Parts: sequence; C-alpha cells; structure tokens
Amino acid sequence: SDEVILVGRSNVGKSTIMRELTGHSFETGGKPGVTRSPNHYDWSGDDFMITDLPGFGFMSGVPDDVREQIKTDIVRYIEEYADNILAGVLVLDGKSAVDIIDRHSGEDEIPHDVEMFHFLRDVGVPTVVAVNKMDKVDDEDERLNDICDRLGLYPPWKQWQDTIAPITAKRGSIGPMEEAIRGHLEDAKRDDLK
Ligand code: GDP
Repeated sequence: SDEVILVGRSNVGKSTIMRELTGHSFETGGKPGVTRSPNHYDWSGDDFMITDLPGFGFMSGVPDDVREQIKTDIVRYIEEYADNILAGVLVLDGKSAVDIIDRHSGEDEIPHDVEMFHFLRDVGVPTVVAVNKMDKVDDEDERLNDICDRLGLYPPWKQWQDTIAPITAKRGSIGPMEEAIRGHLEDAKRDDLK
C-alpha cells in the first residue's frame, strides 16, 4: 500500500522524527545499526504507512560488509516499492552534514547522502530533505544554502521549500517537513486523478 519512507545516516534523528509523526515511542540514541529491517507504522489519521528504513553510513562497531549490505537492502527496498512510495524523506544532521559530505567528495567517491538524494530522484520518488538538529546550527540560511549546493539544487534554499525542510525534531518542531510531505502527497493524488 501507499507509503512515505524515511532514510538517513544513523544518528541523524530518524527515531525521534518517527516518534513525532506517529506518536509511538521509539528507542532513540540506541545502538546504531539495530534497525535492520523496515518498520511500518500508520501515519495518524491518514490511510498510508510511514516506513523507517535502517540507518546507513558509518556506525561504530558495525563491520564494513554489514554496512554495505544495509545500504544494498535499502536501495533494493526502494527500487521494489518505488511505485507505492509517495514521498521519500532524506534526513540529514544539519550540524554535520556539510562537513561529512565534503570529507567524502572526491574523484571516485560520492557521499552517501548525495547518492541517496539522486537515487530517490532517479527512481521517481518525490523527496523531502529534512535538515534536522537545526537547534545546533547558528548560521541557518548559510547552512541550508550549502546543503542545497551539495545536493545540486541552486541556492538560495528558500526557493526549495517544497524540498528543503529545516527541523528540530527533538523539540517537536517538524512543521516544515510535514508541510513538504503533504505537498508531495497532494501532487500524487492529483496525478492519480489524471
Ligand atoms: P536515529 O539513529 O537516526 O534514529 O537517531 P535518533 O532519533 O536515535 O537520535 C540520535 C540522537 O540525536 C539522540 O541523542 C537524539 O536525542 C538526538 N536528536 C534527535 N533530534 C534532535 C534535534 O532536533 N536536535 C538535537 N540537538 N538533537 C537531536
């Protein structure tokens, strides 16, 4: 059935966001890499599911081959269900995302976040980039412009409010993300009627 998926590196705040969206409690700050299989939940009041996919990228104590397998599983899941995925939420840690992306940008290296963003687009999943932990970011506009730049979206970020959603999940401040998701869901409904 129809679903919205949440993807992101481990520790970016996916469990915290899931808690805010569903009202269920999820273990936050738990052992990285524990969420290995997709978790499905009803989105309060609506007739679709929200699916939390495992965190990808570096996790201390998790071997490289396991990390690779997790990422492969995520990609396969998205490819398999792309037709039912109404929106994808790529969660970033606003405090560290740009540094991590820059550290992993090279001739033959594409940072996970950038790769995932382009992959979602390639398979036709409308994407919201939830830039979390904005409470830890001082230069908000500059940071969001940098994120746009790294994702190949022409700054300023305010042009991309259907895509870039600054949030502080820990304080329950996720309005811009919910609005951006709802925007994509309405687009999907409109396309259905055509
Ligand atoms: P997950 O691994 O992506 O599921 O991340 P969690 O939801 O477990 O969060 C990882 C850590 O980030 C926890 O210590 C959270 O309390 C913290 N965290 C989540 N959201 C925010 C936020 O908006 N601001 C700050 N400062 N910390 C957050």
